[in-house]
Amino acid sequence: MASERMPDEFTPAGMTEDHVDGVVIRSTGSWYDVMVGDRVIPSKVRGRFRLAEDDVTNPVSVGDRVCLRVGTDETGFITEIHERKNKLSRRAAGRRAGREHIIVTNIDRVWIIQSVRLPKPNAGFIDRILVVAKAHGIDAGLIVNKIDLACDRGSIHELYALYTGLGYPVLVTSAETGEGLNAFRDALADKTSVLTGASGVGKSSILNAIEPDLELRTSEVSDKTRKGRHTTTYVSLHPLSGGGYIVDTPGIREFGVLDIEPWELSHYFVEMKGHLEECRFPTCTHDHEPGCAVKAAVDAGEIANSRYRSYLNILGSIQQGAKDVGR
Ligand code: GDP
Ligand code: ZN
Repeated sequence: MASERMPDEFTPAGMTEDHVDGVVIRSTGSWYDVMVGDRVIPSKVRGRFRLAEDDVTNPVSVGDRVCLRVGTDETGFITEIHERKNKLSRRAAGRRAGREHIIVTNIDRVWIIQSVRLPKPNAGFIDRILVVAKAHGIDAGLIVNKIDLACDRGSIHELYALYTGLGYPVLVTSAETGEGLNAFRDALADKTSVLTGASGVGKSSILNAIEPDLELRTSEVSDKTRKGRHTTTYVSLHPLSGGGYIVDTPGIREFGVLDIEPWELSHYFVEMKGHLEECRFPTCTHDHEPGCAVKAAVDAGEIANSRYRSYLNILGSIQQGAKDVGR
C-alpha cells in the first residue's frame, strides 16, 4: 500500500527535502514516535492515509516501517508506509465496532517462554500460540527457562525433541545461572520479537538479565487484575542495545485471538499438513470423520498425542466461538 511519494508542492513549510526511513515505536493516536537511527522523532500522518483505509481504525501502526520528512523543529511527517510483512489485529469495539484495529506489524518472531518447573510446561499454551503465529505468518520459537531447576535434563528432552523436530528453534535458558542467555540475546538482535508466557515462567528475569534498563509490562498477573475492566492496550516497541526491538504489550490476549474456520486449523499444525490430502473428506476436521489420515498418523505415532490433543482443544474453542456469534 501507499507507495507514491508526496508531490513536492505539498511540502509543508519548514520541512527538509530529505526522506528518511524509520520504525514506528509508539502511537498516541494522532502522534507517532518514529525511531530513525537512534533518534525518536514525534511525527504526524498525512491525512490521505486515513481516507485510503476506511475499515481500519489506525492507518499507521506500531511496527510500521515508514518514510518521513523531518522538519527543522525535529518533528516528522509520515509520507509513506512500507509494505507490511505481517500484522496482529483485532476487531474494534464501541463506536468503531467491526472495524479492524491493528495492534502491531512486522513481527519477526514470537518467543513462547516456558519453565521446567514452577510453573511446569503447558503444551496446550505452546500449541495455541504456534497456531496463532502460523496463521499470521509470524515465525515462532520456544524458550525453556529455569533449566537450573531440572533434576534431570532428560525430563525436558521430550519437549525439546518434539518442537525442534517440528522445525521450531528451542533455546534452553536459566535467568539464575545465565545459561543460554547469550544465545537468546543473539536471537533477538536486529529482530522485532514478542515474548509471551504465563506468569512466573521468568520473562522479566530473562529480559532484566539481557537488557537491565528495559521496563516491560510482561507480567500476566497485572493483566489478570485488569480483566473485566475495559482498558485500552497501548503497545510499544522497545529498542534493544544489540539492535532490534521487543514488543511490549500489556497482555498476551491479543495473541490468543484466532479468527479462522474449523477446517483451516490443521493447516497451521506443520506436521498435519502433509496428511490432509489423504483424508476421505476434503473438509475433514480430523475429529470424528471416518477415513481420516491425520488420526491414522496419530495412531501410527507420526503425530504426537499431545499435539493432537491441542488440536482438538483449539478446534473445540473455535467451534464454540462460532456458535457464540451465531455463525
Ligand atoms: P514473569 O512473571 O514471567 O515475568 O516471571 P519472573 O521473571 O517474575 O520470575 C518468576 C519467579 O521465577 C521469580 O521468583 C524469579 O526469580 C524466578 N525465576 C525466573 N527465572 C528463573 C530461572 O531461570 N531459574 C530459577 N531457579 N528461577 C527463576
Ligand atoms: Zn482428517
